[in-house]
Formats: sequence, C-alpha cells, structure tokens
Amino acid sequence: MGAREEWLRPLKRRIYTVVAALGIAASVFALIINELSGQSPSFVRGVLLAAAGFCALLLLLLRTEAPLRWVEELLYAGTGAIFLSVFFFALYAAEHHFQAKNSLLGLYLWLPMVYVLAFLVHESRPALFRSALFYILLVAVSLPHALSYITSRMPPEGPVYTSFEQLYFSNAVIIALLFFFARLKERLREVQLNAERMERLARTDPLTGVANRRRIEQLLEAEVEKAGAEGRRLSLITFDIDDFKQINDLFGHDAGDSVLAQVARTVESHLRAGDHFGRWGGEEFVILAPGMSLEMARGLADRVRTVLQDQDFDPIGTLSASFGVAELQPGDSPTTLVKRADVAVYRAKTRGKNRVEAHPGAA
Ligand code: GH3
Ligand code: MG
Ligand code: MG
Repeated sequence: MGAREEWLRPLKRRIYTVVAALGIAASVFALIINELSGQSPSFVRGVLLAAAGFCALLLLLLRTEAPLRWVEELLYAGTGAIFLSVFFFALYAAEHHFQAKNSLLGLYLWLPMVYVLAFLVHESRPALFRSALFYILLVAVSLPHALSYITSRMPPEGPVYTSFEQLYFSNAVIIALLFFFARLKERLREVQLNAERMERLARTDPLTGVANRRRIEQLLEAEVEKAGAEGRRLSLITFDIDDFKQINDLFGHDAGDSVLAQVARTVESHLRAGDHFGRWGGEEFVILAPGMSLEMARGLADRVRTVLQDQDFDPIGTLSASFGVAELQPGDSPTTLVKRADVAVYRAKTRGKNRVEAHPGAA
C-alpha cells in the first residue's frame, strides 16, 4: 500500500470490523439453526465454531492495532481454509445427500468472495498469486472426487450432484476478470500520477522549486479577478537581487544558482499561507499578497528585505535586493499592476538599491 493509500487504513479497519462482526453473527445464527434442526453433523458444528472463533480473533487483532497486513492475510487464509474444509466435507464426509447439496450450493455462491477479497486488499500480482493458490487447492480437493465421478459414471442424482467443469471454468474466468480490472486500475493510477507530476513540473521553477512565471501569471490573473469581484485589496511586491552579475562573476554561475535557491527558500519561509511567491525570471522574484494594502505590503517587503540583508548565503556571504510595491487600483489589469511594481523597483535601484519603493497611483 503506497503513501497515497494511507488515508484508506482507518476505513479498511472499520470495514474489516464490520465483516468480522457479521461473520460472528452469521456463524452463531447458523449454529443455532443447525442445533434446532436436530441433525447437525459434528463437522458442520466444528466449522461454524471455527468460523466464529476466527472472526473473534480478527476483531481482537483489529482492536489491538495490530498491523493491517496481518488482519488481511488472516482474513484471506481463514476464509479460504473454511471454504476448503466445507468443500471437503460436502464431497467426502457428508452423511446425507441434502447436507452435501446444501453445503455445495452455499459454497458456490460464496466462493468468489475469496478472489474479490484478494484483489480488494492486494495489488494485482500478489492478488493473482493468492487467488491462484486458492484455486489450485480447490481443484486439488475436488479432483479425486471428480475423477471417481467420471470413472464410475454415477448418475446425476448420485450422492453429490455437482459439475466440476463449471466450477473450474467459472472460477478461472472470475480470477482473470478481477486481474484485468486490477491491472486497469493500476494503469489508470499511473497515468493519473504522471499527469499530476507533469502538472507540478509545468508550474514549478526547476532551480528554486517555487512557482514559475507561468504559474505566477495564472495566479495574478485569478487574484485580480477575485479582488475585483469581492472588493478585496491586492498588492504585488517585486524584488530584484542587487549586483547579481558581480556575484556570478566573482563566485561562478553555479554559486549564483545556489544563491538563487537559498533566497527563494528564505523568502518563502517568511510568508503567510495565503501569499503567492514565485520566480519572475533571472534574479527577480514576486510576492502576490491578497488582502494587503499598499502600506501592509510595504511593511512585508521591508521585513523580507531585512531578512535577506541579514542572512549569510553560502558561499558568497551577504547580499541585498531592491523592492517595488504596488496595490491593485480600480481599472487595473494584471499587466498594469506588474508594470507599476516594476517602475517602483527601478526607482529603488536608482535611489541606491537595498530599499523598498511603493508606487501608489494608477499606471
Ligand atoms: P542590479 O543591481 O541593477 O540588479 O544589477 P544586476 O547585476 O543584478 O543586474 P543585471 O540585470 O545586470 O544582471 C543580472 C544577472 O543575473 C545577469 C545574469 O547572468 C544573472 N542571472 C540571471 N538568471 C540567472 C540564473 O538562473 N543563474 C545565475 N547564476 N545567474 C543568473
Ligand atoms: Mg539584479
Ligand atoms: Mg534583474
């Protein structure tokens, strides 16, 4: 079970608990009916008692928080063992024709549950292995009877009426179909995981791991529309690392790359959950702050500026960045908002760098 199915565990526990409780109820009910009928073979009594005990053991395991795997393996092994012993009883040990017939009828109805259970609990291949194992045992138990039936040419209303070729064939088909559906499900899951990975890649900047420009543009579009519709404020902070060319020249391009990643990590850790942060390109980043006024955004920008200025970056030491802040105004589009923040960055650069400038007016 992969990490993605972790959330299934509590649900599975509950389902197995219900199954075990129903198993106890059904076994006890059958026991009572059998005893009342007055002709309960001791074998049937034994099997029903074993079934009730087995279900009680399952309940106990589920309560003790034992690994779910144990419960599942036990469920498969226990159900399989009970079915096989009933099969054995019907074919070789039943004293009366009707006992055998009843046992076989019930068995044929419930047999597929073993396979369904295996495929429900396991991936396709281990499920196929468990189903095949049960199938082989089923054939092994019935083969001597089937052979003697054929060789002795017993009439259809002989001691046990049964048609093994139907049993063998239908069970093989059920296993094949379950395997087919399980494989299909697994392929679909792979495709879905792949699509999710591609989608993540398409919106992530590979160097820094934060949102890329494409993603930021989408978010900007959505946030501008939302702010307009809800009458909410929205601010944009753009910052550009100062003298980054020198950093590259002095320490090499790889060191520059590493610094960009460190800057992204640092800034990201200082933002609220609702803020969007991404790399606009080169050594330029943006913070989209829904609900923030120009003044609040200016405060945030200055906190980030101070954090960057005070941090020691490996291997270059310290650096600084220049910040431009703009707030969404009536009539603004994403483009005009971005442009105003850019103008503010430019102003911060020309006024000496390592500072925050805000552009209050409409573009
Ligand atoms: P200013 O203070 O005016 O911003 O000066 P600057 O040197 O930072 O600005 P300029 O635009 O002249 O140079 C930006 C440099 O950033 C040039 C470019 O090679 C470098 N750069 C852009 N993207 C990357 C990158 O992904 N990795 C590295 N290592 N360098 C990059
Ligand atoms: Mg720069
Ligand atoms: Mg630049």
